[in-house]
Amino acid sequence: MNRTGFLKVIGLLPFTALGMKLNDLGKISESFPLTGRMPVLFLGHGSPMNAIEENEFVKGFRAIAKTIPIPNAILCVSAHWFTKGTKVTAMETPKTIHDFGGFPQALFDVQYPAKGNPALAQKTKTLLSPTLVELDEKWGLDHGAWSVIKHLYPEANIPVIQLSIDYDKSPQQHFELAQQLAILRHKGILIIGSGNIIHNLRMIDFANAHKGNYGYDWAIEARETINSYILDGNYRPLLDYHRQSRAVQLAIPTPDHYLPLIYSLGLQEKGEDIKLFNDKLLAGSLSMTSLKIS
Ligand code: ZN
Repeated sequence: MNRTGFLKVIGLLPFTALGMKLNDLGKISESFPLTGRMPVLFLGHGSPMNAIEENEFVKGFRAIAKTIPIPNAILCVSAHWFTKGTKVTAMETPKTIHDFGGFPQALFDVQYPAKGNPALAQKTKTLLSPTLVELDEKWGLDHGAWSVIKHLYPEANIPVIQLSIDYDKSPQQHFELAQQLAILRHKGILIIGSGNIIHNLRMIDFANAHKGNYGYDWAIEARETINSYILDGNYRPLLDYHRQSRAVQLAIPTPDHYLPLIYSLGLQEKGEDIKLFNDKLLAGSLSMTSLKIS
């Protein structure tokens, strides 16, 4: 007699309720066996047009994917899911969200049909306790996720879930939430923060947007400062970015595109290196700087 049959016979609990519980628990632990440690990424996603354009940045995304073991699933913290409270997508089939306007039809035609992973969503919720996490059935994949993951895994054959950014939490709190997810890296889950470290949309210099690696003086200074904090593992000033130089203030006028970086850094383990790539400025007031932690 199997375990469920035995428990049914001894009448501990109604069969259906208990049977389902045991099944679900079994499913969850089988879904996430321990693996080698997955790297963590932060990807500067830039314009949604990167989803369909060929340029040095999408080449950088493709190249970095080749250096990473094939993940069991992806958990993405996107700048474009900035919410009251923390949510995690928990649907079987997330829809592709075209959360932008004024772009060519070809961009609206893009679908990224990766599956979701409800068991991973549940596991994420559990790991983030006591922070309340809502299992979300309405969102899907926003362009912060699909416009870059599409280049990493063009066949959309890796399940993807998204974790939202609670706009009421401090950078320190986001950093600590990320740390609670550390075990997922050891279960074959690739965690990706997707935003832009320097992201001042009001100051974009459209006339010079075609120039390669072009940034205002303050953007050049902010990139230098922030990159050196990252590479030195000096995260305190990154968490206290409000108190840094004027250049850093101009680089981070709002927290949405910056906080995904804080999630990625929060997942770094002792002795791990950080490698920057796509480390270029764009249109005066943006950076595409991305990094891999491994
Ligand atoms: Zn964005």
